[in-house]
Amino acid sequence: MTPTTGETVSCDVVVVGGGPAGLMAAVAIASTGAATVLVAGRPVPRDNRTTALLVGSVDALTALGVWEACRGAAAPLRAMRIVDDTGRLWRAPEVRFEATEIGLDAFGWNIANRDLVAALEARAATLSNLTVMAENASTVAIGATGVTVGCADGRKIVAKLAVGSDGRRSLCREAAGIATRGWTYPQTALTFNLGISRDHHDISTEFHSAEGPFTVVPLPGRRVSVVCVVAPAEADRLQALTPEAMNAEVERRSHSILGPVTVEPGRGAFPLSVETARRFAGGRVVLVGDAAHVVPPIGAQGLNLGFRDAATVAELIADARREGTDPGGPTVTDEYDRRRRADVASRTLAVDLLNRSLLSDLLPVQGVRGVGLWMLGRLGPLRRAVMREGVAPALAEPKLLRGEPLS
Ligand SMILES: Cc1cc2nc3c(=O)[nH]c(=O)nc-3n(C[C@H](O)[C@H](O)[C@H](O)COP(=O)(O)OP(=O)(O)OC[C@H]3O[C@@H](n4cnc5c(N)ncnc54)[C@H](O)[C@@H]3O)c2cc1C
Repeated sequence: MTPTTGETVSCDVVVVGGGPAGLMAAVAIASTGAATVLVAGRPVPRDNRTTALLVGSVDALTALGVWEACRGAAAPLRAMRIVDDTGRLWRAPEVRFEATEIGLDAFGWNIANRDLVAALEARAATLSNLTVMAENASTVAIGATGVTVGCADGRKIVAKLAVGSDGRRSLCREAAGIATRGWTYPQTALTFNLGISRDHHDISTEFHSAEGPFTVVPLPGRRVSVVCVVAPAEADRLQALTPEAMNAEVERRSHSILGPVTVEPGRGAFPLSVETARRFAGGRVVLVGDAAHVVPPIGAQGLNLGFRDAATVAELIADARREGTDPGGPTVTDEYDRRRRADVASRTLAVDLLNRSLLSDLLPVQGVRGVGLWMLGRLGPLRRAVMREGVAPALAEPKLLRGEPLS
């Protein structure tokens, strides 16, 4: 890193946004040896959400020396159940997926976002070629040979490449002139954690209702996290319930599989939408995490996609450094856009189809969904193929997610 004046810092890569995807990108890129600056002024909202990290994401965190600090705060997901709770004529049979069927100990681990972010921040603080600037970016100017990020306090960072991990209202995306496309759903995801009175046995259960999934995901000890997708009016009704009434409502929705429950303080509400950048790179900017793609919180895809983005850009930077080429040049940015396309498009489509099949009142749609789940339950090879693809995409798995070092 070369401080050129008191106000300007020169580096190879500047990462804008210190959410989980940006922190992951900064740590992964710094691990290639590139001089890296992370601009992370705005604190991440401290809600009680958790993230189900799939096994590849955990392998990447392990390879980067982050997972050791997460392990004690995370619960393994050894099995997944899908239960049709639509009450409709065409009800699908229950399907159960076991990680051991595809040779895994667990599909992934569930961890509170605040614990994950704290572990990433702690690792970032140990890397000598990674500078964290506790400032917001207020300007991003893209030139022919570099990109300049202006901070709110007047300091400037000049880099070969900017990684835009600044969330769904991305300044970097706007500076690169990249539009988005998307849509909203008539649904809200309520999030909260529960104290439970029966063991969860490391099993995640999705009750598929006609308003959306009600998903219970293990946390360490006798606790679980819940994502409850309902119509906005129902979300308002649930939000207004007293703690006792909410406990009863949640026990009813979970069919008492966890016994009587206690909803912990700190609930969140997130309207459901899809938003995808039309390109994942433009000029000397690449987009990572929610800046590139927002998907509904169904099937634990959002941040796992973000980690694959971060690992992909780090891998391309490692290649550029080895070959002595420009880390912000078209070889890196065009290839990044190409590599991330199929993965993001296929996950967005899968989540969208699953969600719409629940919302649809059309009998043929319910029939197709029911037959699909019946086949998954009955046909071992199909079930195993779906599990393998759900945990790790066959075509877009970057090195870090296979647990391989970058250099
Ligand atoms: C209810 C719910 C449940 C979910 N569950 C899962 C799950 O189980 N598994 C999964 O994989 N995903 C899950 N997701 C998705 C996941 O939470 C998101 O994909 C993830 O948080 C996105 O991380 P990010 O770092 O890209 O964005 P963010 O977390 O939005 O972080 C962006 C950061 O950039 C900062 N920023 C913005 N502008 C600037 C600026 N100008 N300068 C500096 N900083 C800036 C922001 O303050 C923020 O800190 C879930 C999402 C929801 C809503």
